Amino acid sequence: MSPSGLPGIDYALNPYGGCEHGCVYCYAPEVLHTDWKDWRVVKVRSNIPDRLSKELSGLDGTIGIGTVTDPYQYAEKRFKLTQRCLKILKERDFRIHLHTKSDLVLRDADLLASMRGEVGVTITGIDEKYSKITEPGAPLPVKRLYALEQLTSRGIDTYALIGPILNHLEGNEKDFVDAVVSTGVKRVFIDSLNLRPQLMERLNRMNIRGSEEAKENIRKLAVDSGLIVKNVF
Ligand code: SF4
Repeated sequence: MSPSGLPGIDYALNPYGGCEHGCVYCYAPEVLHTDWKDWRVVKVRSNIPDRLSKELSGLDGTIGIGTVTDPYQYAEKRFKLTQRCLKILKERDFRIHLHTKSDLVLRDADLLASMRGEVGVTITGIDEKYSKITEPGAPLPVKRLYALEQLTSRGIDTYALIGPILNHLEGNEKDFVDAVVSTGVKRVFIDSLNLRPQLMERLNRMNIRGSEEAKENIRKLAVDSGLIVKNVF
């Protein structure tokens, strides 16, 4: 684990390197100085449960799971590293902050419900066609909404991460916020597009841009619906 500067997170735990979801707006490769094409090649950190057991001794605080890559990407179905780490953290009663874009998280819903902490699910829209273009390897929005609803109904402290907010949401803000509200989630974080040079080039080619207009509309609609709304940072 590495110490984390993210708000409310003391240590970062990422069982996988790279991410199969392949979101076109992902800025992680640029932050980590990795080629965009290599980013979708997943590195399975198979010794992470053993390392975690050793490194936890003497530590205290909240463990952020999936701070850089998705802990429930498809590799997790086979390798179960996230699940094994969660079991270790549960045994030692650590507080967690887990974030994902995948409904595979439901496999571990009972485990998560028995732990201290919070779980966030990213949802960037409800248009399936658009999701297939912008998040080609990720579960469709309807599955993520279902995951959020199920986790929330089990008493897990959940939030929806709405971001990055892109131009396709302009004019569709109401339907989108209604879908999020219908999950029963009480908190949302909203996030702008984090533009980096290579990312900008890629998105320009695809005619995709961030939308502050949609962001403000979503903020207002969410507040009016009784949700607690915060910016990501
Ligand atoms: S899920 Fe997150 S880490 Fe994975 S490609 Fe998408 S934005 Fe990047």
